[in-house]
Order: sequence, then structure tokens, then C-alpha cells
Amino acid sequence: MAQDPQFTRWLEQITATGGCSHPVHLSGSTTTLDATTGEILRHYDTRDQPGERLLVRCRNRRATVCAPCSRLHAGDTFHLVRAGLIGGKNVPVTVRQRPRLFITLTAPSFGAVHRAGEDRCRPRRGRGQCEHGRPLGCGALHDPADYLLGQPLCADCYDYPAHVLWHAHAGKLWDRFVIGVRRQLASAAGVVQSRFPDNARLSFARVAEYQKRAAVHVHAIVRLDGPAGPTDEPPDWGTVDCLTDAVHASASRVVVRTPYSPAVGELALRWGIQVDARPLHADGDGPDDDAVAAYVAKYVTKGASETGAGTDYRLTTWDDIKAARVSGHVRALMSTCWRLGGLPELAHLRLRSWAHTLGYRGHILTKSRAYSTTYTALRADRARHVGHEVPPGTVTDAHWRYVGSGHTPAGSQFAAGIAEDLAGLREAIRDERAHGGRAQ
Ligand SMILES: [Zn+2]
Ligand SMILES: [Zn+2]
Ligand SMILES: [Zn+2]
Repeated sequence: MAQDPQFTRWLEQITATGGCSHPVHLSGSTTTLDATTGEILRHYDTRDQPGERLLVRCRNRRATVCAPCSRLHAGDTFHLVRAGLIGGKNVPVTVRQRPRLFITLTAPSFGAVHRAGEDRCRPRRGRGQCEHGRPLGCGALHDPADYLLGQPLCADCYDYPAHVLWHAHAGKLWDRFVIGVRRQLASAAGVVQSRFPDNARLSFARVAEYQKRAAVHVHAIVRLDGPAGPTDEPPDWGTVDCLTDAVHASASRVVVRTPYSPAVGELALRWGIQVDARPLHADGDGPDDDAVAAYVAKYVTKGASETGAGTDYRLTTWDDIKAARVSGHVRALMSTCWRLGGLPELAHLRLRSWAHTLGYRGHILTKSRAYSTTYTALRADRARHVGHEVPPGTVTDAHWRYVGSGHTPAGSQFAAGIAEDLAGLREAIRDERAHGGRAQ
């Protein structure tokens, strides 16, 4: 069987997907023609392939869904974030000289939760109890692996609707925050707000991360350029200090009001009071650019499920919520999404569709257009390296359709082997880079 050319081709296909664990099966053809003469230069047809199909990567970013594809995606994210910090991938290296901050914005408190650290968790003062008869303090020294961490001291006191509605509006809070930073910068510079784009441009890349208490917080790289973007110097007033002040001022002022609901009223949502803004210095004084890019990239491969805050899959029934393997706190958040999701005045938030991410919609990584390159550009770059580029002066005629996904048991084993080999190779290259100079 190993001599069968179809078998060899099948192995080649799995190898080409980098050992993807859930490849997508496509059927169809691509014909490349000379644009002027109409002569057929190349024709690829899955009719000649094993099973008359082509396997392509699933491209899932989450490690629990597909480890090989998530590694590839993390690599792309790293390059995308790094290019905005130090240049490369068509971004000028001068971006490194621009005012750049690494900021962290948190969610506010929705109720007391158990926490780890050097100190005792919420030391008890007196014999206070909440109205549900539970102690107001804890006083324990929690082990970092303690299941209690992030769980509320009293689930009945915890404001679950506010937590879920905050998640549902986190994207809007971020948008308003960015508008606020521009506004603060404009007023500091004595520029009319509407004229800000003529003077400077604010770029960012941000990631969302679930904390122990299952609330999202946001890490972002913020950069100030001149009006034309990465190629352009910011004006004289555009300093690191000015940007830092604008970030703090905007984060403390932004408010998003939820639509009125008879069940939960109308909430005024804000960022938490903990706001961190660290300048990134080009001279290496401050957090290392590569470390920051790697830190940001790391979160992109993690879904809500990896941090215990949610599931990999959508929850479509109340029974799904009951069956999910999550903590009581997370289940309460999911149930709240389900309950509030049934209210007509909150229908636009689609809380039931997003119960698995606790109401948080949207992407883990978001970036402004001028920040750096794109995933699409990075993929096209990779395609060029392996020779899938469309040569100039040609046209392509492609017809493809989806015919399935996944592996046969044998294919699955083989793919896992490929993935392991590639991971090993990557490690060897890393080792070589780290020790190569010294070993001889
Ligand atoms: Zn995959
Ligand atoms: Zn505690
Ligand atoms: Zn209570």
C-alpha cells in the first residue's frame, strides 16, 4: 500500500496542512490562463487526488481545538504585533521611536471574590455578615491552584447581571475609550477635536484576557504617529507623557449606559480603577518589545475555555449550561446570559449566543487599520514562499466547494505525528538560536 502513488499524495496533503487536526476537505479546480492568449498555463483538479479532495488547514486559533493551527496563528499574531512595535513586514522601523505604551484596562468589581497573593484573602474585620448570613471576609492564604480563587464570597451578593452586561458592552467601552484618548490629546495640544486627524494618528492592537474572576481585561499597545500613520512623525506635543495622561484621563471618564430594562434597570458601565500604562522605550529601557509582542500573542491562542471561563462550543439549550464542565461562578454567569438574553429590551446583545464566552462578543485580538500589517498579508506572504502566487499577466478560474472535514483514524494518527515533528523541529531551532553561538 505504501507504494500506491495515491497514498503518497495523501501523506503529502496531510504534511502540507502542518498536521492540522481538523482539516477542511475541498473539491474543485483552479485553472491559470494567460491573460492575453487564453492559453492554459496550469490546471489543478482534485479529481486526480486521493478521495478526489484537497485537505486544507482549519486555521483555528485555539490550542484546544487544533494545536498545529493555533501555533501558526500565534506566530502570525506575534509578527503582526511586533511589526507595529519595531517595524518590518512593510512597517517602517521608525515606529520604534514613536510614543508607545503598553496599557492594561480592567473590569470594575462586581462583588468580593477570593484572591491569591502574599497576603491573606480579604482579612476579616469583626464578625460581619452579609444579608444572606455569609461572612464578609475570608482570611485564608489561598494556594494558587485553589478552586475557590475568583469565586465570590457570596454568590447572592455578586452582581451577575452587571458582570454580563459589562462584557456585552466591553467593545463599546473600548471604542469610547479610544475616542476619549484622541479628545484628550486634542485638548492638550489646543487643537479642535475635529482637526485631530490632521495632526496625529492613534494606532492600537488589543487583546482580551479572562481573569480568575471570569471578567475580561484588556491589554493593548497604543502608538502615536503623525497624520499619515506609521511613516509619519507625530507633532512636537505628541510625547509619551502626553499620551500617558490622555490614557488615564480617558479610562477614568468613559461611561456606557445600558438600555433600560425593567429587570435590571439602567446601568452606567465604566472601566475598573486599576489602569496601567507603561511606556515602551526604543533604547531598551523598559519592557522588551519582543517580550510584549509574545505576551500579547499568547492570549490569542487561549479561548475562554482555557482559562476556565467558558466553553469552546456554543451553548444552545439550558441543559448545555447545566452540563458544562465549569465552576459554579462561571455557570452562574452563563445562566445570567441565558436569562437576560430572553428579555426583548436586551435582545440586540445576543447574550444567549454568547453565553459560552459570558456575554463577551467579538475578537480576542483587535487592531486599528494603521497599526501594522494584517493576517491576510501575512498569509499571502507565506503562500508566496511556497509558490502559490498568481504570476502577473495571468488570470485564474477557480471552482471550489466544501465536501467535509476531519480525519480518518489513520489520517489522524499521521497528522499528530507530523504536528509533533514540526513542534520538535521548532524547539530544536529555538535551542540552536539560544545556544548555537556558545556550544562550539
Ligand atoms: Zn487545524
Ligand atoms: Zn478567600
Ligand atoms: Zn450575600
